[in-house]
Parts: sequence; structure tokens; C-alpha cells
Amino acid sequence: MARQESKKAKLSRAAAIVDALKTYYPNAECALRYDGDPWRLLVMGRLSAQCTDARVNTVCETLFKVYPNAEAMATADAEEVGKYIFSCGLYKTKARDLVASSRMLIDVFAGVLPDTMEALLTLPGVGRKIANLLLGDIYHKPAIVADTHCIRISRRLGLVDKEKKAPEQVERALVSLIAPEEQSDFCHRIVLLGRQHCMARGNVCESCPLNTLCPKIPV
Ligand code: SF4
Repeated sequence: MARQESKKAKLSRAAAIVDALKTYYPNAECALRYDGDPWRLLVMGRLSAQCTDARVNTVCETLFKVYPNAEAMATADAEEVGKYIFSCGLYKTKARDLVASSRMLIDVFAGVLPDTMEALLTLPGVGRKIANLLLGDIYHKPAIVADTHCIRISRRLGLVDKEKKAPEQVERALVSLIAPEEQSDFCHRIVLLGRQHCMARGNVCESCPLNTLCPKIPV
């Protein structure tokens, strides 16, 4: 189905998928629980690499009590920070990035999280995935967060060619299919779908809200 699908048909199906997800998940909330502070989402986004959102949420409850803001983190000892984020994995690198990016946020950006992809990518440890998360959630800009759920499900849905696995390829493909104002929420909803229906091992298609719109491509 997906291989023969015209661009026009795919655009129309993508719009229907967006609508179905909106109906099924009216609240498109970020899976990382933060209080609206951009710096906190920056920290949580960095910790979420190769770690579950649930783990990051738990770890940050304590982390933010010890380091409540960028100023506190900027003057912290990375080794000490590592003790609080150990269970997130890659903790030494992540701790160094948290301290360095907090320092840069204060020294270079006067404590204000930049609102462009280009500037965000200059922060230590920030790649396109985190930058898009920040642009979408904090600045409400069009942004596709090509995380593991997004990559897997977009390919199963046939929105992205099965051969395309690299985050940037998936991001580009979805940017061309999903309306700009829907992109950020679409990604949040895809995460919810990836937990409840379209898991990495075993998809529960019968009860999936996208069942009739999905070619269920094996990936
Ligand atoms: S119908 Fe099945 S394969 Fe398609 S998105 Fe839903 S759970 Fe995933």
C-alpha cells in the first residue's frame, strides 16, 4: 500500500492520522514531567538519551531539589552531578553536558534558552532531537522529535519509507507530511501510542486508533 501511494494520498492519510490521534489523545502532553522551566526540559531531554522517560522523571525529582536552576548546575561539580543521574546511563558524559550547557546558557545566552535550531545545537549535548523538543514545547514552533517511537511508528504507518531509519531522514519525511502547527503535538501523541498500542515488540493493532489508516508495515 505505502509503496504505490501518491504524495497527495499520503498527505491526506497523514492528516487523517493526525486527526485520529487528536481524538484519541486530546491532551498531547510531553512525557517528560517538567514545570515549564526551559532549562529543566533541556536537562531532561539530555538525560532521556537511551533512557526511559519514566526513569528521567524519577531521577529529576531529586536532581532538581539539589540543582534547582541553571545557575546551580553551572557551578556544580560534574562528578557530583553524576551521582544523581547514574541510573540514566552514560552518566559521566551526561553530567559533563549538563554542567557545560548550563554554563553556556548563562554565559553566552544570558540565561535565556535560544529559540533557533542553529543556536540550540551549540549547547553541549544538544542534538536535533532535543533541539526540536525544546523548539516545539517551549517556543511552540514546528518541530518533529524523531525519537525511537516516532521512527518505529512512522515506518509501520508507511509515512516514512521502511528503509529510512536515521532520525534526520525521518524528521525530513514527517516535516513534509505533517502540518507545521501539528508537528510537536503529533510527536507527543505518537509516544503515547508507542506505549499503549504500537510497542517495539508486538503491536496491538486491533484496539489501535490508527488501525484503519495503517498498512502495518513490518519493520
Ligand atoms: S495499527 Fe498496528 S502497526 Fe499501525 S500504528 Fe496501530 S499498533 Fe502500530
